[in-house]
Amino acid sequence: MDFSGKTAVVTGGSRGIGRAVCLELARGGANVVLCYAGNEATAQETVSACEALGAKALAVRCNVADADEVKALMDTAVQTFGRIDILVNNAGITRDGLLMMMKEGDFDAVLETNLKGTFLCMKAVSRIMMKQRYGRIVNLSSVVGLHGNAGQVNYAASKAGVIGMTKSLAKELASRGVTVNAVAPGFIETDMTAAMPEAAKTATLAAIPMQRLGQAEDVARAIAFLAGSEAGYITGQVLAVDGGMSM
Ligand code: NAP
Repeated sequence: MDFSGKTAVVTGGSRGIGRAVCLELARGGANVVLCYAGNEATAQETVSACEALGAKALAVRCNVADADEVKALMDTAVQTFGRIDILVNNAGITRDGLLMMMKEGDFDAVLETNLKGTFLCMKAVSRIMMKQRYGRIVNLSSVVGLHGNAGQVNYAASKAGVIGMTKSLAKELASRGVTVNAVAPGFIETDMTAAMPEAAKTATLAAIPMQRLGQAEDVARAIAFLAGSEAGYITGQVLAVDGGMSM
């Protein structure tokens, strides 16, 4: 895919799906600005890997749940590269537990990062993209946001909320050349899923028609498609990337 001349902001680009997205966009020639919460060393590894592909890249520490930090992130991207064409809202966390045991703080933390973080980042780039009359926003939802999952009331609420925000902003920005879509990954092998018990992994695998767990690159390729200029007539959609699990 050709992203030359385009600038992308990818939240949570230090690991997992976010890193794979950075590399996919860098491979197409995009300038990449990635943010991370705390893992500076791994964020710099992503930067080096993007540069090895011939792209310009920059890592910025930014808590997506903090409006001032998000503004500083987007300001840095514009000051460095002059524009923001692509925003991938990928930063996310889990704090799993059955509802009866779930602490209020664990509910709030997941909503703050996954839902409010996506809101703040979309808000910060919307004016920029509207003025450009061009933009691509891709949000990370989850099959859990579509179907729910025991032990993930907080996470499911955040990811279902992301879908509602995606469709609403898609309607607000459609006439300005800005598309807003979501991907809903199934079970992807990253740090986020690494701690899942083997029995739960085996049960999940049995529910996947393609009979394999997903890789970060599977999701990154779908995001790159939605982030490309060729996807300009697609907006407000949720693309499941789950090996057929949710059909
Ligand atoms: P991951 O490996 O745990 O990586 C999470 C990334 O988000 C890291 O780069 C982390 O930065 C960053 N991050 C966390 N909190 C942040 C904050 N407050 N501000 C800025 N950055 C923050 O996760 P993943 O599995 O790649 O998941 C990526 C996205 O896909 C998430 O939104 C997740 O919900 C969604 N998803 C994943 C799966 C799956 O099976 N893995 C399935 C469906 C949806 P640090 O490295 O600095 O901590």
